[in-house]
Amino acid sequence: MSQHIDLAEDESDNYWNQISKEDQQYLVGPKNWPNPCPWCGGRLQHSSDCVQMQAPWAPTMPFGKYKGKSVGEVPVSYLNWVTRKQAGDDAFRKELKLWQKRKGK
Ligand SMILES: [Zn+2]
Repeated sequence: MSQHIDLAEDESDNYWNQISKEDQQYLVGPKNWPNPCPWCGGRLQHSSDCVQMQAPWAPTMPFGKYKGKSVGEVPVSYLNWVTRKQAGDDAFRKELKLWQKRKGK
């Protein structure tokens, strides 16, 4: 036996309002957005706990004026410059790329 269920307009709005703004954007936005984070489930934004938890995994700058600092503390514009100029060794840039991917940047 199948039953046809009509959702009242206000009821479906109610479901819509129960999901996060980010997921609403995900549902109506382009479909090539990042997968949910395995730690916090965020797609575009991580919870602040998640960001802190992931910080220890960030690679350390091996050169330049931010040498010895976690890349999480380095301005994004500087990291972009590193990528653009292919600065440093391949291994570091590979790690940097992975870290940026994990952060969804
Ligand atoms: Zn996360």
